[in-house]
This record gives sequence, structure tokens and C-alpha cells, in this order.
Amino acid sequence: MRDCTFCKILAKQIPARIIHEDETSVAFYDINPQAPVHVLLIPRKHFASAAEAAETDEPVIGHLHRVAAKLAQELKITDGYRTVVNTGLGAGQSVFHLHLHLLGGRPLRWPPG
Ligand code: AMP
Ligand code: ZN
Repeated sequence: MRDCTFCKILAKQIPARIIHEDETSVAFYDINPQAPVHVLLIPRKHFASAAEAAETDEPVIGHLHRVAAKLAQELKITDGYRTVVNTGLGAGQSVFHLHLHLLGGRPLRWPPG
């Protein structure tokens, strides 16, 4: 999709520190990390948010969570990590290509802000 930052990362039109790629998803480090480990996992298929996911996207969303769990092991944050999907402007969503944040490497407070 034109003018989507994450589609541009998928197309290698803008650089990213990619740490995982497969048929369905790509994972890369967040440019503005909020924790010692802050990775974004995105589907190759563009859809704007979790609210706009189709029924056929259900396996894709599940896949992102499974890859996040594997990356958490590789990145040694299994003592406590958080996966977050911000949905909509009010939740702080700023890039409208669905993505899962994987955060860890420091104590994570609850409730989140
Ligand atoms: P959200 O606010 O949930 O939409 O998350 C978007 C995230 O994308 C933010 O944490 C940004 O720091 C991150 N981000 C935006 N542009 C880039 C980029 N070019 N490379 C890596 N991360 C980015
Ligand atoms: Zn996109």
C-alpha cells in the first residue's frame, strides 16, 4: 500500500533492523524503543488495524503471537515480556498497518498508560 511506512519496510524501500522474516510476517526493531527489547511484528498483508482484520486474517494474527514467543526466547526476555496491539488513535496507534509490539528487558508496570 502506498504511503504505508511498514509496507515500505516490507518492500525494502526504507531500512529496518530486521530480525525475522517468513512467508507471513516480518519482525524488526522499533525505531523509538520503549524497553531494552522493543520489536515490531507485522503481517506481509496490509490491513490497517485489528479492528479491520478479516476472518481470513485470524491465522495471521495467531502467527504473529507465535513468532513473538519464539523471538522472546531468542532475545532472552522470557522472565516477563508484553505483546501489545494499539488499535485506533485513542490508543496511540500511529502506523496504520497492523503490528504487534514485543516489549521486554525491564519490569513492566500494570496498568499500562
Ligand atoms: P503504534 O504507535 O502502536 O502505531 O506503533 C508504531 C511504532 O512504529 C512506534 O513504536 C514507532 O516508534 C515505530 N516506527 C515508526 N516508524 C518506524 C520505522 N521506520 N522503523 C521502525 N519502527 C518504526
Ligand atoms: Zn502497510
